[in-house]
Amino acid sequence: MADDVFADAEAWGFETRAIRAGQPHDPTSGAVVTPISLATTFVQEDVGVHRGYEYSRTGNPTRTALQECLASLEGAAHGLAFGSGMAAEDTLLRTLAPGDHIILGNDAYGGTFRLISAVLAPMGIEWSAADLTDPAALATEMRPNTKVVWAETPTNPLLTVIDLEAIAEVAHSGDAMFVVDNTFATPYLQQPLSLGADAVIHSTTKYCGGHSDVVGGFVALNDDALAERLAYLQNAIGAIGSPFDNYLTLRGLKTLAVRMDRHCESAEAVVEFLQSRNEVIEVRYPGLPDHPGHEAAARQMKKFGGMVSFRVAGGKDAAMRLAVSTQVFSLAESLGAVESLIEHPGAMTHASAAGSPLEVPDDLIRLSVGIESLPDLLGDLAAAFDRL
Ligand SMILES: *Cc1c(COP(=O)(O)O)cnc(C)c1O
Repeated sequence: MADDVFADAEAWGFETRAIRAGQPHDPTSGAVVTPISLATTFVQEDVGVHRGYEYSRTGNPTRTALQECLASLEGAAHGLAFGSGMAAEDTLLRTLAPGDHIILGNDAYGGTFRLISAVLAPMGIEWSAADLTDPAALATEMRPNTKVVWAETPTNPLLTVIDLEAIAEVAHSGDAMFVVDNTFATPYLQQPLSLGADAVIHSTTKYCGGHSDVVGGFVALNDDALAERLAYLQNAIGAIGSPFDNYLTLRGLKTLAVRMDRHCESAEAVVEFLQSRNEVIEVRYPGLPDHPGHEAAARQMKKFGGMVSFRVAGGKDAAMRLAVSTQVFSLAESLGAVESLIEHPGAMTHASAAGSPLEVPDDLIRLSVGIESLPDLLGDLAAAFDRL
């Protein structure tokens, strides 16, 4: 029966795969929901003869369900679920050796910058930052030992858009692996493997989980040998989440498409509202026709996402006051869940990038637009501006 379900999965639409891929009805009870499989060890019929599971760090049925589902959504042959986005990134980057060089987009997630510059660099990995909006600039940055080009699009928190096909071409001309952090777009809006990426990274803590109640990470990829190496490293390092974590993420994925539709729709309304306010000097959103990456975003994304950043007139002081003035938007790090969040990246998520090429403007505010009633979101922002 399970096999019959998989036979159809490739042909199903995104929403159907989100609900069914990797999730056959439980053969022992008929349960329609994937069980949370807590066993740490699995019985062997003879020495080394088992049903695919031996020890839960190496493989776990709930994790398998999540891996098959999210890999299917990314259009990937393989997927590995990790205990956090950073655990996924760290494990992937452990395929490198001392002397190898990484090129990181100059607007990367602060934690990725910290991992590469403060953890991997002292162990002999070289790195540099490049402006990935400009493929020619990347080409001049490529070195003979460049093994990884690491991009996000849209970026965090500046919402810069990278043309994935153009960057893939430069990375591959130098034989580097092209890694795309797809956390902001999600596979519903953008599927980087189909645009030339070799590996897709997720913090599933964000939109994939979608409810601010589980930390997790993911790598999706097509290369068989690299997938095998990652499974080896994951088991050796132990960078896994718990079965309950995997279950929660899998549950979140089921509603990813409907949540993303609402996130995108409300974000567009928030953008329009922000543009009407003279306290706002610049709105950054890939859906805006005058956004420098709009054309690439329209080509490679289904919609433009739920994240909006803007700069506040009056500088850092005004931005900091605005960040504490909303009520429906909660002042908090993280993003991508059902509730709306507001933050000041310079003092919060990106504080560790101060003084580096990844520093962000200090009058910048980032919104993660949730799926609450739109009039409440717009009214909350209006009241906060009026209080400034
Ligand atoms: C949150 C985040 C990460 C790190 O993921 P964790 O789950 O917090 O470890 C990586 N990339 C992006 C874009 C993120 O937003």
